[in-house]
Amino acid sequence: MTLIVLLGAPGAGKGTQAAVLRDRLGIPHVATGDLFRAAIREGTPVGREAKAYMDAGQLVPDRVTIRMLEERLAAPDAADGAILDGFPRTAVQAAALDDFLGRRGSRVDAALLIDVPAEDLVDRLSGRWICQAAGHPYHATMNRPRASGVCDVDGSPLVQRADDRPETIRARLAGQLDDLNAVVEHYRSTGALRTVNGLRPIAEVSGGLLEALEAGTAGVA
Ligand code: ADP
Ligand code: AMP
Repeated sequence: MTLIVLLGAPGAGKGTQAAVLRDRLGIPHVATGDLFRAAIREGTPVGREAKAYMDAGQLVPDRVTIRMLEERLAAPDAADGAILDGFPRTAVQAAALDDFLGRRGSRVDAALLIDVPAEDLVDRLSGRWICQAAGHPYHATMNRPRASGVCDVDGSPLVQRADDRPETIRARLAGQLDDLNAVVEHYRSTGALRTVNGLRPIAEVSGGLLEALEAGTAGVA
């Protein structure tokens, strides 16, 4: 089992890079934000509980998030591992993931931090457009689709996320960065942390992440 955690502030490029790693490593991309957005679309109890927190730019409570993630990791397509994007986001979630994997004789192989300074995140988030069908991310100036307003991968229309409005962006950055630091420290202490400069063009960040994996993780590459 290969379990990779992608860490970074909102807008750092986790979803963008997770797609590259998934294609390269052949394990699924599991994003808790995508799971919550799907739950909201489907009107499930988890979606109803998550929506108010997401709209306010706050983290969804650990209890709900951990249960949802564990159910996702128990699915057959994750038997060989997964690339986690947006989880863990608190020290409690990081400890729960260690316990969950430990019960399966496994562990987090690498925690890859995509490092982007706070002042660059607002531009990343306010220019982000995602496709309606699958959430593939684009940017109005830095990562444009081939045809305006249409996803390169699946042809679905591009939309802005409800929480990418300026006031919610500010709330997310103000409220989530301390928790990110706690998670970074968790993986520094386990020895799994690798940091990659996320300010470079997308392909260069991908190269940096793959190098970090090859350098530090037995059984991956
Ligand atoms: P996250 O999943 O960490 O919130 P995304 O992958 O959705 O971040 O990226 C946020 C925005 O920044 C998107 O609009 C994406 O197209 C853009 N982006 C991602 N990586 C880069 C990069 N290296 N350079 C410029 N823009 C990027
Ligand atoms: P994302 O798509 O990763 O930017 O996440 C969007 C929103 O979903 C976040 O601002 C949180 O409200 C919620 N969310 C996603 N992942 C988590 C998590 N691991 N813990 C708590 N809330 C989360």
